[in-house]
Amino acid sequence: MSQTEMERRRDAEAQIRATMMNELCGIMHKLGLPPMMVLHLAARSIGTIYREMADVHSGIDPCSCGWRPHPLTDVEVLGMALMTACEQRRTNDLLQMRVIGTA
Ligand SMILES: [Zn+2]
Repeated sequence: MSQTEMERRRDAEAQIRATMMNELCGIMHKLGLPPMMVLHLAARSIGTIYREMADVHSGIDPCSCGWRPHPLTDVEVLGMALMTACEQRRTNDLLQMRVIGTA
């Protein structure tokens, strides 16, 4: 992957993350829902957005961009991304705790 491709992905992730964090915090405060409930609803929303995008790229007159969904592997990739991101954060937290602990 080229440097610019990596930068574009990093920028896209940062933008999506900032938007989602803002929306999720707003919904938690406005509706008084607990964090895990809001995160669960966000995960479900990603699933239904995937379904919608997959539908647009399947069938008789699919989107011309060329992407074609592969539901079994796509869902596995999305699930792995979620698990990896959760683990990654925990590792970062542990590293920070260690640094604080030795300071
Ligand atoms: Zn497309």
